Amino acid sequence: MAGTLDTRSIDTATIHTATIDTGPIDTMTTTALDLGLARQLVCRECGAGTPLAAEFACAECFGPLEVAYNFGRITRSDIESGPPSIWRYRKMLPVPADVDEHPNTQPGLTRLIRADRLAKALGIRRLWVKDDTGNPTHSFKDRVVAVALAAARQLGFRVLACPSTGNLANAVAAAAARAGWESVVLIPSSLERAKVLTTAVYDGALIAVDGTYDDVNRLATELAADHEDWAFVNVNVRPYYAEGSKTLAYEVAEQLGWRLPDQIVVPIASGSQLTKVDKGFRELTELGLVQPAPYRVFGAQATGCSPVSAAFKAGRDVIVPVRPDTIARSLAIGAPADGPYVLDAVRRTNGAIEDVTDAEVVDGIRLLARTEGIFAETAGGVTVACAKKLVECGQLDPDGETVLLITGDGLKTLDAVEAHLGLRATVAPNAKAVREALRR
Ligand SMILES: *Cc1c(COP(=O)(O)O)cnc(C)c1O
Ligand SMILES: [Zn+2]
Repeated sequence: MAGTLDTRSIDTATIHTATIDTGPIDTMTTTALDLGLARQLVCRECGAGTPLAAEFACAECFGPLEVAYNFGRITRSDIESGPPSIWRYRKMLPVPADVDEHPNTQPGLTRLIRADRLAKALGIRRLWVKDDTGNPTHSFKDRVVAVALAAARQLGFRVLACPSTGNLANAVAAAAARAGWESVVLIPSSLERAKVLTTAVYDGALIAVDGTYDDVNRLATELAADHEDWAFVNVNVRPYYAEGSKTLAYEVAEQLGWRLPDQIVVPIASGSQLTKVDKGFRELTELGLVQPAPYRVFGAQATGCSPVSAAFKAGRDVIVPVRPDTIARSLAIGAPADGPYVLDAVRRTNGAIEDVTDAEVVDGIRLLARTEGIFAETAGGVTVACAKKLVECGQLDPDGETVLLITGDGLKTLDAVEAHLGLRATVAPNAKAVREALRR
């Protein structure tokens, strides 16, 4: 296992005969695991603790592991004096203090914009859009990958890998290129052309698999077991990777002037992001960085892949896997690993989960573009359309201050809107022709 001493590389004869030779012991001390204030991994099911390592499942019950910390005191000015990226929150992430001294994509601190025109269209009083299209590879995945890479470096991995629904492929290939690592990216063969090209350009190994994302994910788990130095960011280093999503919550709170919004709408693929936004808000409260305040977390899915929404609406605790069929491919995970924890967070905070059709997704993309000048990918269309539906059915309070997470850029999913958009006219090069076209 990477991160522990690789015994194959040690000459055992040397260890037994030359006890004075402290070579291997020196190696251990100089490469001591430095993951900042992270203390251990804790099982989300049974609460068992285990030392920080490249583990992702509980040895007792196979439950998912999560990073726990010894935060001590962290102040607003510690954060505000930090770099203009997610690394301003490095003390709250499983990364070493010098994380930003290694080449990395420096994601985060994307803009939070007041969205008055969209608010009016949706019938909401105070609305903000967290525009994560502004990340280095144009989706929120740069956040989680940057944290995964930093932890993977500490854990002794050499290759950055992932199964991806698209955005993760971009983020992994770019982060590896910048860090000088090799990358292995596995995608479903149905992936949008734009997302293939915007991954391939970074020149890692890009492999299409004939199957759904869930098939690709299973394949990655199998490969991770055989390749000790491959960090599959969302598989064998998932506990570290997932922590990167907390930075969305931290930024929203800091950008609101160190307070929590009343309501936040989050798209759901595996469900990790939603659970970590909730964890981020709780940590800010526990650290005294924001006033304690009730907040409600809402989830958004596409109807063509809505296993979490279906469980929520049926009042079930169990997620029944589905075969995805939606244009929102970045959210098309039929067996979402964090689904049950999404249900917990949404129910505990008094939120709700909705799902919308592909036609509504396209309407959501166009509504956001028309009212706020932001071109989101299909996941953003899902968030906007679900927010609209949640207001209409009375679940989202129109008087509550609300944040929508717009997590990816529309340039990556042009095929979703292509059939709906076009020119007003093509005219001869004279003013009269233009005026005529405008009257039509
Ligand atoms: C991956 C992704 C998400 C959500 O991911 P989770 O697996 O639920 O954490 C949301 N939006 C976009 C654009 C994504 O690529
Ligand atoms: Zn356990």
